[in-house]
Amino acid sequence: MDKRRLIYLDNNSTTPCDPRVVETMVPYFFEKHGNAASRSHQYGWEAEEAVDYAREQIAQLLGAEDKEVIFTSGATESNNLALKGVFEMYARKGNHIITAETEHKAILDTCKHLEKQGAEITYLKVKEDGLVDLADLEAAIRPTTILVTLMWANNETGVIQPMREIAMICEKHGVLFHSDATQAVGKIPTLPREIGVHLMSFTSHKMYGPKGVGALYVSRKNPRVKVTAQMDGGGHERGMRSGTLNVPGIVGFGKAAEIARLEMAQDAERVSRLRDKLERELTKLEETKINGNVNSRMPHVSNISFKHVEGEGLMMTFNQNVAVSSGSACTSASLEPSYVLVGMGLGDDLAHSSIRFSLGRFTTEEDVDFAIEAVSKGVNHMRELSPIWEMYQDGVDLTKIEWSAH
Ligand SMILES: *Cc1c(COP(=O)(O)O)cnc(C)c1O
Repeated sequence: MDKRRLIYLDNNSTTPCDPRVVETMVPYFFEKHGNAASRSHQYGWEAEEAVDYAREQIAQLLGAEDKEVIFTSGATESNNLALKGVFEMYARKGNHIITAETEHKAILDTCKHLEKQGAEITYLKVKEDGLVDLADLEAAIRPTTILVTLMWANNETGVIQPMREIAMICEKHGVLFHSDATQAVGKIPTLPREIGVHLMSFTSHKMYGPKGVGALYVSRKNPRVKVTAQMDGGGHERGMRSGTLNVPGIVGFGKAAEIARLEMAQDAERVSRLRDKLERELTKLEETKINGNVNSRMPHVSNISFKHVEGEGLMMTFNQNVAVSSGSACTSASLEPSYVLVGMGLGDDLAHSSIRFSLGRFTTEEDVDFAIEAVSKGVNHMRELSPIWEMYQDGVDLTKIEWSAH
């Protein structure tokens, strides 16, 4: 195998910056270095103008108004601002929030925090295909429910939730709907007003923009939503998020949004063809399973379990050549099996044997062919060495085995 080649199939962790984005950012580091809040000179005006323009580019991608876009440092902060901000602002109405077990940690940990502040949280289970059960959602709503927060697309499986149906349930019961749309924005249409989403988090570095900048969409009419600031200071961003704006980052974010709006459809078409090829070839291996609803899924993601193969070990066989994440992705330090996959009913072993492939704008067909070969070799190699695989091939029912003491 060619040691010089390292293929990046981990675009759900972060995407490379589009060179066109970098080019737009450069002047804002030196010549146009002003503070967008400086109202008294050209430097400030220029920076403010650039921020306004980026806000417009982003609003256009969302079919939103400029003023509905609040800049933050990323989706983690946006999620914190949305959940904590709504919890505080709507405290008189109630203290109950509904979410799901398979949300990103930036949602789940914020919910845990709010529980200590007196919030009651319902963590919905998901079905085996990763989708929330709409009847469960509706049944969970109480008179004290102030917010439903459900992600647009899952970071580990790419599964897309039935956004419009969820929004209709929220609308019917007069409950605010927030979505962590980090994995969806810029890759599939995400139009909060049209769908009925009232708050929406997303981040630049998952859509070919720079790291350290994100946004929260906050609906300004029908309903007019307010969140209490979590960062106090100069009153920037309509008082919802103080702090000097990251002007170069915001300029890049805006450009990334513009490119996404113009190229989303063709990117999705191309990348889904590559994803389908990768999936078709890898599932030719015995005992593989695609995780998540294949009919409601992002075009660039494939999460595959290779039964009886330990994912981390498998990854080691090819991680000099192909960069992916394993079924222990978001907590890989602890090697816990992915709670997202376990939440979908996969056993610990199957969760541990899973690999997430996430393609992107810069993935080529050669990359995919190379990855298919590297991963197939790795799986075969691991299985050749595995006594469990041998037992499986001998027809031993592995579920009936009594393993000795843990
Ligand atoms: C990456 C990600 C986040 C965190 O975004 P940051 O900008 O890195 O803070 C939140 N939610 C989801 C679904 C993500 O994929």
